[in-house]
Amino acid sequence: MDVLNLDIPFDCRFTCWFCGEGSHQTIVTTLVTHQMVNIPICDECKSYRCHNEASSLVRLEKLIKDKIVKQSAKALSIGANWTEKELQESELIGSAFDGFKKSGWRMFLIARDRVNYSGWELSIDGVTIENTAEDENFEFDGLTFTSFISMLDYLSSTFSLNKEFLEQVLTLYGDNRAIEAVKFCRLVPNESKSERDKALEDLIESFKEKEALKP
Ligand SMILES: [Zn+2]
Repeated sequence: MDVLNLDIPFDCRFTCWFCGEGSHQTIVTTLVTHQMVNIPICDECKSYRCHNEASSLVRLEKLIKDKIVKQSAKALSIGANWTEKELQESELIGSAFDGFKKSGWRMFLIARDRVNYSGWELSIDGVTIENTAEDENFEFDGLTFTSFISMLDYLSSTFSLNKEFLEQVLTLYGDNRAIEAVKFCRLVPNESKSERDKALEDLIESFKEKEALKP
């Protein structure tokens, strides 16, 4: 089968379709229409080697986004824990911290934009191509994740939370209340398994009570 070339909007020339960074190469992938296309990718996204395990673009995009979240965990946590002003005014001293203050926020912005970037609409010779399978995104504090697992990875590493515990709490709160779920996890003692079980029991109890109060 012929490998087709995607249309590339003028302002997206030399742009990675996955993360928006500069690109000077393409890889071959398959669309949901089973057409094979060349798609622009940057060095970094390519270095994740996800294209070796995913043959469809939909799957490939998810894998790459998950990888960006994992690889950028440190940079993303800067944004979660500091605002730009706090970062500038922080009392960190020493040359190592100067570099951090100068580049830390920038690193966060780059990582955030790569996570949130959404590639241009696909078309070949002007004909639009659908590329949506089950399109479900998860959002937390200005970041968009292409999978629940990816959001979970980010939250547990950024806020140093036990992943299993966080997952259970998130399930109770629902994905659209992730911020509350994270707050809960950070506030209750949950260092040990028994503490986590106890906190979870209490949470289930409080949800039941709220349910019972509903008219
Ligand atoms: Zn990229």
